[in-house]
Amino acid sequence: MADPSRYTYESPLKGYENAPPLPDEKAADGKSYVNPQTGVLSKAYERFPDPLDNGRRGAFDIHVYYFQKNQKQKQFAYELWQRIRLEFPELRIYRFWEEPIGPHPIAMFEVNLFTPAQFGAFIPWLVINRGPLSALVHPNCVDPDTGEHEEEYRDHTQRATWLGNPIALDLNLFQGREEESAQRKKAAQEKKAAEEKQA
Ligand SMILES: [Zn+2]
Repeated sequence: MADPSRYTYESPLKGYENAPPLPDEKAADGKSYVNPQTGVLSKAYERFPDPLDNGRRGAFDIHVYYFQKNQKQKQFAYELWQRIRLEFPELRIYRFWEEPIGPHPIAMFEVNLFTPAQFGAFIPWLVINRGPLSALVHPNCVDPDTGEHEEEYRDHTQRATWLGNPIALDLNLFQGREEESAQRKKAAQEKKAAEEKQA
């Protein structure tokens, strides 16, 4: 289970401190609000926001789970795996696991998403086409100091989203790595500070 109080959060209005006050005016439906139009779309339509990984790793993993002893689910999952390969050949998809692996307590397969357009197309598609299966949508966030994925625990908990019923993951693996990550981050920050001192 995620514990949101473990983390600190910037104000959602960071960068918008000097924006003009928002109007109270309602749209023609009398309920929704009229927003001042800027004519500029959020950059999030084109590129995943930091610290999401816009590189080769892919910003999001989708893990689709099935109960490996349930023949009906297994059959459905295998057909879904094939369908994704046929309909979304540009996505990266891995092995159809028939047993639990890593933090995943039941069998699953994994798909990686690289662009907001892929996310925008694939996730709504999966909402409708996932049948009886649950899917985990978790980000891969890059640490600005080390360039590595240092927050895998958080990426699989507080930053995770589920389609269908959530399934408890075995997070022990990530907790073991947190100490290593903290050390790597400290070393990178010290190196940066030393370089800044020299310059
Ligand atoms: Zn993953």
